[in-house]
Amino acid sequence: MKYISTRGKAPALSFEEVLLAGLASDGGLYVPEFMPRFTPEQMNALRTLSYDQLAIEIMYPFVEGCVPRGDFTDIVEDTYDSFAHVAVAPLKQLAANEWTLELFHGPTLAFKDFALQLLGRLVNYVLEKRQQRVAILGATSGDTGSAAIEGCRHSKWVDVFILHPHQKVSEVQRRQMTTVAGDNVHNLAVEGNFDDCQRMVKASFGDQSFLNGLPLVAVNSINWCRIMAQIVYYFYAGLSLGAPARSVAFSVPTGNFGDIYAGYLARNMGLPISRLIIATNRNDILHRFLSQNLYHMAPLAHTISPSMDIVVSSNFERLLFDLHGRDGAQVAALMEKMNHEDVSIEPYRWNFARELFDSCAVSDEMTLATIKQIYEETGEVLDPHTAIGVYAARACRQDSATPMVTLATAHAAKFPEAIEKAGLEQRAGLPKHLADLYERDERFTVVPNDVKAVQSFMQKQLNP
Ligand SMILES: *Cc1c(COP(=O)(O)O)cnc(C)c1O
Repeated sequence: MKYISTRGKAPALSFEEVLLAGLASDGGLYVPEFMPRFTPEQMNALRTLSYDQLAIEIMYPFVEGCVPRGDFTDIVEDTYDSFAHVAVAPLKQLAANEWTLELFHGPTLAFKDFALQLLGRLVNYVLEKRQQRVAILGATSGDTGSAAIEGCRHSKWVDVFILHPHQKVSEVQRRQMTTVAGDNVHNLAVEGNFDDCQRMVKASFGDQSFLNGLPLVAVNSINWCRIMAQIVYYFYAGLSLGAPARSVAFSVPTGNFGDIYAGYLARNMGLPISRLIIATNRNDILHRFLSQNLYHMAPLAHTISPSMDIVVSSNFERLLFDLHGRDGAQVAALMEKMNHEDVSIEPYRWNFARELFDSCAVSDEMTLATIKQIYEETGEVLDPHTAIGVYAARACRQDSATPMVTLATAHAAKFPEAIEKAGLEQRAGLPKHLADLYERDERFTVVPNDVKAVQSFMQKQLNP
């Protein structure tokens, strides 16, 4: 499989190259040259597989030519062995024909483990083969940092540097990053906000000379490997609920449009998905686009669902590429225009998106009310991101005969403040493997809000 850029100018790359690449050289994002498709007969044969076996079948076409099947099998089996539930991504019923897909049984209790546990192992595999060291650099406002650290900590070829805004992430989220032992794990608490962290990451990728030739690798949500891993659980849920004979609808708590874009790809691969609901918090740029055909950047709002607090949705460019007939020049012009003005697309393209996608923006008040309501109806405690998904699922539901699945993107124990605000006395406790999180030793370095300070810290760690 080859990968091409959404802006049409960068060279096509192999899977191995996009795994380590980040942004394309023309500023675009890499997408597969074509989508593999499964026929109904082929899907029927997948219905009885375990999660890891299914994952191998769904993902292999994307890595073929780079990773031999036997090695890929070992890597995928090892990846999903690290999950605490034998079903890996269990479905839980909320009401008649209404479900959540629990994606929080990985090491850091959020769905990002599905992708980053795999990505860490694949990066290690490729580097081992090349006998090459790299540095991974990322900024986090919460869930990505811990998932990236957990995914890469065991690789002797990788040093992981994660920037978080000092005293501006929740205690659970901070501890999940800072209590991981390992000489190759480096947590930097920046005396600034998340935007400052992101700015420093961007500047360091823009000019990597401070690393004297050591490659810098990005693991943010635009990395193709992350999208690929997320396609699998749409198939897993759909096949469990009757696909290919029966259609399924999904509601997806959305920030950077990565997770829901994976659902769109699952549909392109043959899974009968009738509807994909974009569930956002007050940072609703995608909802405004879907409901008004207007792409307008608004200032960042801080909400009780911090992992969806975004200004722009970077992966949305991948959908725009398809909506524009995969014409990179048109996408490049559109993205350039978005930097300084509000943008609409031709109505027929917009209507095409609306045939599949629906959207709903949910306030903090409605999020808290949903946590409370679902607890009263079922005894389940939802995390605030999942609650947004469930609210949107119910608000947008068109057809009660089609199963509606909300992706449960995080465990409630990650967001104790929100659960308390929802008025639930029975707090969701941390699962067994994290029960002693508050007693573990923390390791992090506070650095000034200055890119030179960050880079010289990295230099010292890499060349002690
Ligand atoms: C990252 C995250 C999201 C948003 O996912 P995107 O792929 O950016 O749309 C939603 N919920 C939780 C808990 C997350 O960590």
